[in-house]
Amino acid sequence: MSTTDRRAKVSPSPDSDERQAQLARLPSVDSVMAMARVAPLVGEYGRSRVVDAVRQVLDAWRGEVQRGMASGEVMAVDRDCLVTAVTERLARDARSRMRAVFNLTGTVLHTNLGRALLPDAAVHAVVEAMTRPVNLEFDLEAGRRGDRDELVADLLCELTSAQAATVVNNNAAAVLLMLSALAVRKEVIVSRGELVEIGGSFRIPDIMRSAGAKLREVGTTNRTHVADYEAAIGPRTALMMKVHCSNYAVSGFTAAVSLRELAPLAQAHGLPLAVDLGSGTLIDLAQWGLPREPTVRQALAEGADLVTFSGDKLLGGPQAGVIVGSAELIARIKMHPLKRAVRVGKMTLAALESVLRLYRAPELLAEQLTTLRLLMRSSDAIRACAERVQPVLQRALGAGYVVSVQMMASQIGSGALPVQNLPSAGLIVREASGKRSGRALMALEARLRAWPRPVLGRIADQALWLDLRCLEAGDEAAFVAQCVEQSEVG
Ligand SMILES: *Cc1c(COP(=O)(O)O)cnc(C)c1O
Repeated sequence: MSTTDRRAKVSPSPDSDERQAQLARLPSVDSVMAMARVAPLVGEYGRSRVVDAVRQVLDAWRGEVQRGMASGEVMAVDRDCLVTAVTERLARDARSRMRAVFNLTGTVLHTNLGRALLPDAAVHAVVEAMTRPVNLEFDLEAGRRGDRDELVADLLCELTSAQAATVVNNNAAAVLLMLSALAVRKEVIVSRGELVEIGGSFRIPDIMRSAGAKLREVGTTNRTHVADYEAAIGPRTALMMKVHCSNYAVSGFTAAVSLRELAPLAQAHGLPLAVDLGSGTLIDLAQWGLPREPTVRQALAEGADLVTFSGDKLLGGPQAGVIVGSAELIARIKMHPLKRAVRVGKMTLAALESVLRLYRAPELLAEQLTTLRLLMRSSDAIRACAERVQPVLQRALGAGYVVSVQMMASQIGSGALPVQNLPSAGLIVREASGKRSGRALMALEARLRAWPRPVLGRIADQALWLDLRCLEAGDEAAFVAQCVEQSEVG
């Protein structure tokens, strides 16, 4: 059906002639492409993308004119306006999906925000590995094929006193690989108090099932004794396993069997004792006044034969899973076909090696390891930052909200040290009306999320809480600049 047919059926509105005239003034795609202002866009995005964008903007414009909307009419006469719309569309399309945000949630190792931030040295190592050939699996001394684990195994052994080490994609993969290699179609004894779920997708019973191992639960949720483990040992037992209570604490009438108590039992029955330490730090955090978390070295010293832990939690490195322990068990684990499927790439190894090297100079660690530096930031320093930033954010948000400085408590996150908070400071934002409908807070949260570098906080007690622990100097300047820019946007 042609346009004239349609017009014959629908009685024309008084201004339809004017619309027709506007539609007729619509430039052709070719004429837009010929404009001088479009040439740089072609250079930046390529001709076909620009043609698509011009077409899309013209279509949108046509629709607006037909619906009698003013913006379309403006564009009909103003071609510059049209090119601006094309430029905006191209820029919006080209923006990466993964973007830097401000983590003001108060959780330092935030799984949804990428956990540990890499120190500069590690970033440089990654860039080097990405842009040049490296000896990923090449033994430079012997001049023959090497093993990628060798790039970090010595360091891991030095820092943990383990005999051997292997690295995989994350700690979940480390546990899965360990169970697949050592316990398939056999039983693994675990206390009922340690059947943890981490972040919804990692659950000990499920990972056992995927590995083809049979979970043998012992004890109760709150109390497990050595005798419970002992009674469960049978001909099908492959492994005894302890799982660190990363994200919860059992308190009250409780009893758990320590590694020290369990190790002699495992040894007497010739069974390997494995520990999933989760966060697994390499160094005693209590020396910096932080809550104490068991170290990998301690777990091995107390009798664990194998320890698994994450690379991007307290360790402060890239996403990775590490297994350290006895040479014989690590050798068996490395031979399993799954090892090939969950191995790490060169970028991960470059970052991990660089971060591990920092641990050789513990005196410098608090300055050089980003995660530790953030965890150690004093509440006084954070409060001073909050006082500098408060007026700027207040101006950006306008009179509808009240921004005030407030002491608060940060969390380490990623399941590390769940019951211990770190004294911190930040800003809380309330509605000026005091109405407390909640709707305005949701709107505010959405508005901050829509800023060029999204600002993420948390809502509690009818206020938006912005913990400034993770706003270090460079980021503070960027945050202030963005607030100023947003005040101007209005
Ligand atoms: C975090 C954690 C895991 C999962 O580690 P990823 O590196 O996230 O795969 C497994 N077990 C425990 C105890 C944890 O804390």
